[in-house]
Amino acid sequence: MDEGYVKFVPIWTGGKPLSAERLKELIQWRQRFYGLGLIGMYDDGVGFGNISERLEKESQQFIISGTATGGVKQITPNEFTLITRSDMGMNTVWCTGPVNASSETMTHAAVYDSDSSINAVIHVHSLPFWKGILNNLPTTSPNAAYGTPEMAREIMRLFKDDRAMVWDKRIIAMGGHESGILSFGRSLADAGTVLANEFNRFSKRQRIIH
Ligand SMILES: [Zn+2]
Repeated sequence: MDEGYVKFVPIWTGGKPLSAERLKELIQWRQRFYGLGLIGMYDDGVGFGNISERLEKESQQFIISGTATGGVKQITPNEFTLITRSDMGMNTVWCTGPVNASSETMTHAAVYDSDSSINAVIHVHSLPFWKGILNNLPTTSPNAAYGTPEMAREIMRLFKDDRAMVWDKRIIAMGGHESGILSFGRSLADAGTVLANEFNRFSKRQRIIH
């Protein structure tokens, strides 16, 4: 798996972390999915999973967990950065904060660009969960790899072609990114709850089968 490599051009300006108060909910949801093993680190030391929130309603800017933070046991404001601008055509992301942006920032940006009422995006990894929802829930093309402009375009296509279904489920399986799953919502609680509930349903089914 080629997870962890940044496939866009990141223009990172170091800066102070955002306040713990502002990041409180992001940290809580990140810790919840870390606890479930959906955000974490592979044996080879490569981190996976990331979480973001629009800075404020209608803003083009969003806060996202930084690159290589998947394995951090207790995340802090030092592991978040502010995306001040993203340009899919230029495949470039500008960020400011104590850490460089996640390698999947462009995918998050595509979700925010797809619908201005989306305020939170969560990306997790689980091979069995991914296999369980692949092509059952909205799924991106197997030809679009993680972190690429193709993946960003695929996300936007799903919102355009299948808007009602995508909004109904609020979970997207990333067909060309094995194990990769996205959820989104009008708030962090919205995106987090829909994902946690789906994972819970999946886990229950697994227990019945085995
Ligand atoms: Zn991923």
